Amino acid sequence: MTSIAFIGLGNMGGPMAANLVKAGYDVTGFDLSPTSCDQAKTEGITVAGSANEAVKDADIVITMLPAGKHVLSVWSGILPAVKPGALVIDCSTIDVESARKAHAMAGDRSLQSLDAPVSGGVGGAKGATLTFMAGGTLEAFAKAEPILSRMGKRIVHCGEAGAGQAAKICNNMILGISMIGVAEAFVLAEKLGLAHQALFDVASTSSGQCWSLTTYCPVPGPVPTSPANNDYKPGFAATLMLKDLKLAQEAALASGATTPLGAEAAQLYALFNSAGHEGDDFSGIINFLRGRKS
Ligand code: NAD
Repeated sequence: MTSIAFIGLGNMGGPMAANLVKAGYDVTGFDLSPTSCDQAKTEGITVAGSANEAVKDADIVITMLPAGKHVLSVWSGILPAVKPGALVIDCSTIDVESARKAHAMAGDRSLQSLDAPVSGGVGGAKGATLTFMAGGTLEAFAKAEPILSRMGKRIVHCGEAGAGQAAKICNNMILGISMIGVAEAFVLAEKLGLAHQALFDVASTSSGQCWSLTTYCPVPGPVPTSPANNDYKPGFAATLMLKDLKLAQEAALASGATTPLGAEAAQLYALFNSAGHEGDDFSGIINFLRGRKS
């Protein structure tokens, strides 16, 4: 049976690893947090005493960590302990440069690797409905796909090393910008005396239609499942949106891309976060815009 090591059993990694157990895989995990380890044990994950112990017999190694520096530090520690022929996959959202460095580190040891960040949030991790965006060789992708498909419903090969992270930050830059656009439209509608539902009914079937409006509407009412109906509890926390917008800006700077709206979105989410809204859903920016514009 394919044996899987899972390093980073937090809000995302914990339920993802649990879904692999449910799918019948033998999963050994490790996390620095004793609370995450205890929760993982209840899900049937064997918890190892260290990351190196977790990976030593694994055919597939998966990491799900906060940022690029954690991934590079964990990979440099575990790669010497990973057995020849194993595939190493990073599902964290990290900067493209660190992702490429991680691939190079694996390549130096003749190990196959994949960057495979996700979208879909904690709900998607629990429900095994994540979207995976993968970067790496077709051979590595083919080997990873059956495993990733136990944790997600859409698995896309985006290109070579780092392409998964590139797709993730480009997508989330669209999301951050479009949420601000939709929120501004509702704020303007309020000032003009136009009902939320009326704007929704028109824009959701017209050229203003987008995911931020039709699935994640930032005002309560038109889309009952959106966080606006639940006091802007996440969902997708504003702090994570800011993280991804900053990664997009770093990548734009490094590659020479012109992204003025991405830069403005990053600024607005930085202000929103620093006003004490880090833990709010990112669609709560509408309340911040109301405050700024009134
Ligand atoms: P989290 O903080 O809940 O989990 C990260 C885990 O990594 C923690 O449990 C931490 O203890 C562990 N960790 C850190 N350093 C470690 C090390 N050296 N060895 C072992 N474990 C270590 O974060 P999360 O919400 O699970 O997010 C993980 C990644 O997924 C991030 O890169 C995030 O941007 C991305 N992501 C999160 C969401 C979301 O909605 N939460 C959605 C998409 C992508």
